[in-house]
Amino acid sequence: MNNNAYLKCIDPDCGLEYPIKSRNIECERGHLLDVKYKKTPSPDLKELFYNRRNPQGNIFNESGVWRFRELLNFCEIDTDNKDECSKYLVSLDGAEGRQSKPYHMSKVADFLGMNQNCLWLQPEGYNPSGSFKDNGMSTAVTHAKLIGAKRIICASTGNTSAAAAMFAANENMDCDVYIPAGQIAPGKLSQAYQFGAQIVQVKGNFDDALAKSLDDAKNQDGYTVNSVNPFRIEGQKTIPYRAIEYLNWNSPDWIVYPGGAMGNISSCGKALMELYEWGWIKKIPRIAVIVSEGASTLYDLYNGKFEGKKLRWNKGKPDTELIENYYTYLDRNGIRPQTKATAIQIGRPANILKGLRSLEFTNGVVAKVSDAEMLDAMSIVGLNGFDCEMASGASPAGIRKLIGEEIIKKDDVVVGILTGRQKDSSLAVDYHNDPANLFAIPPRG
Ligand SMILES: [Zn+2]
Repeated sequence: MNNNAYLKCIDPDCGLEYPIKSRNIECERGHLLDVKYKKTPSPDLKELFYNRRNPQGNIFNESGVWRFRELLNFCEIDTDNKDECSKYLVSLDGAEGRQSKPYHMSKVADFLGMNQNCLWLQPEGYNPSGSFKDNGMSTAVTHAKLIGAKRIICASTGNTSAAAAMFAANENMDCDVYIPAGQIAPGKLSQAYQFGAQIVQVKGNFDDALAKSLDDAKNQDGYTVNSVNPFRIEGQKTIPYRAIEYLNWNSPDWIVYPGGAMGNISSCGKALMELYEWGWIKKIPRIAVIVSEGASTLYDLYNGKFEGKKLRWNKGKPDTELIENYYTYLDRNGIRPQTKATAIQIGRPANILKGLRSLEFTNGVVAKVSDAEMLDAMSIVGLNGFDCEMASGASPAGIRKLIGEEIIKKDDVVVGILTGRQKDSSLAVDYHNDPANLFAIPPRG
């Protein structure tokens, strides 16, 4: 390896660096890390990426992640030879990200009050484990393989555990999934069980399970694949790559995501910072993050709803005390994140600082929506012939809200990310059996 890729602390005043084969997920002062590249990729690669859509028998061209491998080349591969690539890159036979691209959905556009040809929605649920997590898991497990890890570890009650366990099964690695004991319906973990993960029950809440998993990863030779892992972020950069490539590398006006742990916001922002710095895009799209009303940490802090101060990245000097005060306030008042959209039921977003950096770079906004609004949006997506999970409904619901506030214009070009597939069938059944719901089609008989 030529040390063209390395890890660097995101805090500009700290800036500690580590070799790419380090398994640190934070610097020794406790800050998050970025994967950095010394070389500037040539814009000529755009044509190569396009040509790889005809994969010519190479699964790494078929993969929606590894098709862009030169832009996340932390393994420093310098060949297109499939066998050589497969020594390093982890792929589910090219399936991760393969079917992901933006679509027009006319009924959704009408509901949102947008011009039909301006709205794009990109379903990431068409990944093999059913959510966007496969994008980042393929890269995280690639790094795990690079450093010789045999066991990957995550704390998760849903999509992350499914993706981690699936890749582990394919790579013949062990996978431990940490959950708070007695709080998780076993059905939510059915994919993790099916892919052979070891479920580890931890006394306490989800934060305790995550803390224990990070601890065990450090002390028991495990490899953490939660989104604090900077290599997860690298794979997730391909979500905006695919969207922008589909628009012939013309930036949309907006990219809209549901907001949970902020891994997606972090990766989208990093992708845009790099593309802009490399001169691949001329315009920076604005990111809109849509959180649930019941898990509104980022909304409250970003919009000055707590202590009257607007939390910003502030060129690398965010007011972290404000965040701590907010968490103390939540604890003192017994406020727990509460939404049926469990994928974004997160009170303490692990990547909040990287998320703030993304929002600052893109002049982003944060909005919040109710469970009812997410369910309506999920349902209208369904009436276009696409299924998505309730948390994904935050994207269209948030676009609708921001159009109502005239922050998004109806002829802005908007790409909304639908993060996952419907895995809780009762949500759709219950929705349609209640005639009071906006798009309900109750059974007849
Ligand atoms: Zn640092």
